[in-house]
Amino acid sequence: MTDIASKMSYSLAHAFRHRKKRKGITKNLMPEPTLFQKIILREIPAEILLETEEAIVIKDIHPQAPVHVLIIPKKLIPRISESREEDALLLGKLLLTAKAFAERENLSNGYRLVINNGRMAGETVPHLHIHLFAGRHMTWPPC
Ligand code: 5GP
Repeated sequence: MTDIASKMSYSLAHAFRHRKKRKGITKNLMPEPTLFQKIILREIPAEILLETEEAIVIKDIHPQAPVHVLIIPKKLIPRISESREEDALLLGKLLLTAKAFAERENLSNGYRLVINNGRMAGETVPHLHIHLFAGRHMTWPPC
């Protein structure tokens, strides 16, 4: 297993192993990895700006502000409504990762964090992520 894979959370490493195993068999026992899992595994390229044990921060491919990045946990939680009590520490660390990124990038004029939960809220990738927007004035309300 590569360095990257060894740093991944159990669920992602598990999915990865199963996917390798199932090559050549027709029954698909594991769901297809999400777009963000493929980015974490470096199977799909992305600009990774920061990486911790639990998360990556990447540039959004369709930026909606001068700074638009996504904070993505390595553990697959499809959306915030499916998070559990046991995810409390990880969820806190995602916010602290956003703060660390903002400090590193000197976003002292402000930034906005957004989570889209569900189709009507605009969620398009079923792998929890926090949007961080900065570099322009934000309107309110945001919808
Ligand atoms: P959501 O709509 O689920 O809240 O956010 C998904 C975000 O992922 C969108 O802002 C979209 O632009 C971004 N995105 C979709 N595909 C890719 C990709 O292949 N690479 C990167 N870096 N971002 C992506």
